[in-house]
Amino acid sequence: MKYVRLIHDGQIRYGLFDGDGIDLIDTTPFDSFETTGVRVGFDEAHLLAPTAFSKAVCIGLNYRDHALELELPIPESPVVFIKPSTSILAPRSSIIKPPMCSRLDYEAELCVVIKKRAHNVALDETGPYILGYSCANDVTARDLQPKHGQWTVAKGFDTFCPYGPFISDEVDPSNLAIESRVNGEIRQASNTSNLIFSIPYLVSYLSTVMTLLPGDIILTGTPGGIGPMDRGDTVEVTIEGLGTLTNPIA
Ligand code: MG
Repeated sequence: MKYVRLIHDGQIRYGLFDGDGIDLIDTTPFDSFETTGVRVGFDEAHLLAPTAFSKAVCIGLNYRDHALELELPIPESPVVFIKPSTSILAPRSSIIKPPMCSRLDYEAELCVVIKKRAHNVALDETGPYILGYSCANDVTARDLQPKHGQWTVAKGFDTFCPYGPFISDEVDPSNLAIESRVNGEIRQASNTSNLIFSIPYLVSYLSTVMTLLPGDIILTGTPGGIGPMDRGDTVEVTIEGLGTLTNPIA
């Protein structure tokens, strides 16, 4: 299934995307649901980020190629930080570059969407807790990152967590091409097979630290090739089988 969330007739609704259009469902992807017979065009739809989240849990350094680029050792345990729920941004909506930021970076990331409350989940039992996968952009005020000692400010501004356009449970997340482009020019190109910490490990490990709630997302880290973008640019994150997340910068 591919799930989307959208505004339809002034209401927040969920739907199933079949690669062409969207069939609205009567409840949410977290419940049992049925299609309603109402169909909406994908390009015309007022898409929202596919879930609202209580937190976006992010992994700081999780691609071998990115660790090499930064000349950092391969970490022995995941570097974890959180983007607040208010950083969420819909596909096609504008990332706002804050006045205090002089260098704004993209970070293309595969994200894992949590399906049900996850607490102390064993490594081999994570499957039922995962609704699916999506594209995310871990937007970063790079110049502010070293200034603050920790990353909450640099990563936590409003609009710094674009996510979407849909969630799919039809992909194998351990082998997906991942790419970012700025104004159509490729900036990052890698594969999730380069992940240092696997998705089952991250879901299990994080669930022993904090309870993961339905709709929460885990951003699994970015590959090599990070770099800047600026007002007037358009940034895209494309992941094999997960479509393209497009956002202009304002
Ligand atoms: Mg990141």
